[in-house]
Amino acid sequence: MARYTGASCRLCRAEGQKLFLKGSRCYSGKCAISRHSNTPGQHGHSKKKSSEYGLQLRAKQKARRYYGVLEKQFEHYYDFAEHIKEGKAGENLLAILESRLDNVIYRLGWGNSRAQARQFLVHGKFKINGKKVNIPSFRVRLGDLISVSEKGRNSESLKFIIDSNALRACPKWIERVGNENFEAKIIDKPKREDIDLEVEEALIIELYSK
Ligand code: SF4
Repeated sequence: MARYTGASCRLCRAEGQKLFLKGSRCYSGKCAISRHSNTPGQHGHSKKKSSEYGLQLRAKQKARRYYGVLEKQFEHYYDFAEHIKEGKAGENLLAILESRLDNVIYRLGWGNSRAQARQFLVHGKFKINGKKVNIPSFRVRLGDLISVSEKGRNSESLKFIIDSNALRACPKWIERVGNENFEAKIIDKPKREDIDLEVEEALIIELYSK
């Protein structure tokens, strides 16, 4: 399935909650979720009770859209989460998604949205343990050092974003290193309580395990 290229705000309205897909606009009064309460379409949908399958599907779509992951890739993450022996599959699935490098860059405030973080990433603006990595789906591991590359440090647009988001709180499992806000370290695994996505992850597992 191809990547969705329509209006991002429609996706939030379809899920009935903010998915933070458009950077600073999401935190402003211009956010479509703050301004409209109905779902997209000419008249919006009436709020009828969803079936069990409908709820499971919505939970999956919500998580997939939040992280900007394609269908096939999401299925692959589910398979991986299912085979992890420790913990609950749903929480493991979210931890895998949260460990994607594009998400980590966004969490650090080095991109205003995950889409923007991906764009900077593919242009070689970050390094992992001193080596350039330009793969958004790259999964960070405990102890990894993430840094802004020379190319990134010379980019006025990236530097502006990094400075504007310098005070953004980052999750407990990532630690900013140094004074310049150009480096960060993975100091723990992401836990469910550190992930602010409002979704019932158990519903996603129920959907795929049918
Ligand atoms: Fe979603 Fe952001 Fe659009 Fe609000 S502004 S509806 S959070 S993409």
